[in-house]
Amino acid sequence: MKVKVAILGCSGRMGRNLIQAAVEHQSIKLVGGSVRESSSFVNFDLGELAGIGAIGQKTSTQLNDLLDADVFIDFTSIETTLENINWCQQHNKALVIGTTGFSAEQVKVIEQASNNMPVILAPNTSVGVNLMFKLLEITAKAIGDYTDIEIFEAHHRFKKDAPSGTAVKMGQVIADTLGRDLNKVAVYGREGITGERKKETIGFATVRAGDIVGEHTAFFADIGERLEITHRASSRMTFALGAMRAAFWLSEADNGYYDMQDVLGLK
Ligand code: NAD
Repeated sequence: MKVKVAILGCSGRMGRNLIQAAVEHQSIKLVGGSVRESSSFVNFDLGELAGIGAIGQKTSTQLNDLLDADVFIDFTSIETTLENINWCQQHNKALVIGTTGFSAEQVKVIEQASNNMPVILAPNTSVGVNLMFKLLEITAKAIGDYTDIEIFEAHHRFKKDAPSGTAVKMGQVIADTLGRDLNKVAVYGREGITGERKKETIGFATVRAGDIVGEHTAFFADIGERLEITHRASSRMTFALGAMRAAFWLSEADNGYYDMQDVLGLK
């Protein structure tokens, strides 16, 4: 039987990719999507919104119109997601949260809600990126003590923050594995007479250019050899496909708080 899914924020950049990914997924049935009341896409065909032709399902401004869905996928904004959690809790619905940027306190609110519903908080739903975190842990355990560790990331010219959340998470995974405090060992950019590299440091380098969707590399370098672990995203569909995988997994999960490492069986 197919899992019935609704997409919250379906007219956004991610929302449109999510519609396409849901329609193409064999085990998922797309039953609806939400837009803002002020949106010019109210009561608009979801397929047309995604540019894949009409599918006979219309957008809605009211979550109560989407009660048929079992799993909700939310890529909206922090405020909207926090409202949506309340609604999902009241209506016993599972929620995949792709929205990013929650404060520690807001994450606690999400964790609290997960007592009454299944929730995945997934700031990066790319399967490859989440697998990369596991590879970094394995690599850091094996050679992190004696190699120089540097992280490189590149994104499009419109990105406002640096380094990317994913690059910081890469550093965090490596630092945690090696028992280092990232706040103390991170070096964000170098200029001038910097002196020799300090052994414990984890360096970050950033490029912003053109339409790069997202590239991340971790270097583990020694004298005579260097291991590089790289992930390259070439389209937003990678995040949408990962979100579908998360929604399918969550449809069979008990109430609780999960992340993509749970979805991929990497814990
Ligand atoms: P976007 O601004 O293009 O889309 C967000 C959409 O949500 C907009 O269409 C907006 O109108 C809609 N929305 C907001 N409030 C709403 C409400 N109350 N009801 C209905 N619709 C509402 O942004 P985007 O690039 O699609 O990103 C959305 C979020 O997803 C951001 O937080 C972004 O950082 C995050 N994101 C996560 C991943 C991931 O892998 N998890 C990947 C890309 C983006």
